[in-house]
Amino acid sequence: MRRAIYPGSFDPVTNGHIDVIERARKLFDEVVVAVAVNDQKQPMFALDERLAMLRKAITIEGVRVAPMTGLLVEFAAAENAHAVIRGLRAISDFEFEFQMALMNRKLDEKIETIFLMPKEEYTYLSSRIVKEIAQLGGNVSAFVPRPVAEALAKKLKR
Ligand code: ADP
Repeated sequence: MRRAIYPGSFDPVTNGHIDVIERARKLFDEVVVAVAVNDQKQPMFALDERLAMLRKAITIEGVRVAPMTGLLVEFAAAENAHAVIRGLRAISDFEFEFQMALMNRKLDEKIETIFLMPKEEYTYLSSRIVKEIAQLGGNVSAFVPRPVAEALAKKLKR
């Protein structure tokens, strides 16, 4: 059983994340989407909301959504996973991702980080930009799964 962890804030999940999950699932028997509980960032959506949106949006088999507290490498070891998936959009992602990957290797050398590139049309997509557009009254339905568009509309009461 080859298992990978795909960690992130998913505040909220976007079509870019879904694209990465689908690609990862082709490489691994199981992908655990790990939603960060203790996020440094102030999330728009509470943990339960982020988990629920992911669970509604992910329809493929072999993908599990779970909350993650503490260190990623410890979560990965507890899940018996040897790979961490991260999405790479542009050069701007690289520096931070490179630092994290090497730090995680230092913390646990058995865990490899694998970078996956999304479909080109998702390379400019981020949770932050989706929230900004929604807050300004824009239509985000092309960028996020339907349950997310609905949750954003509800939260922002439009
Ligand atoms: P974080 O809070 O760790 O930045 P995010 O929830 O924003 O995490 O994203 C988790 C992972 O998904 C990161 O590796 C990020 O680079 C990647 N990601 C985010 N948006 C996209 C996208 N549009 N295409 C590909 N990867 C993405």
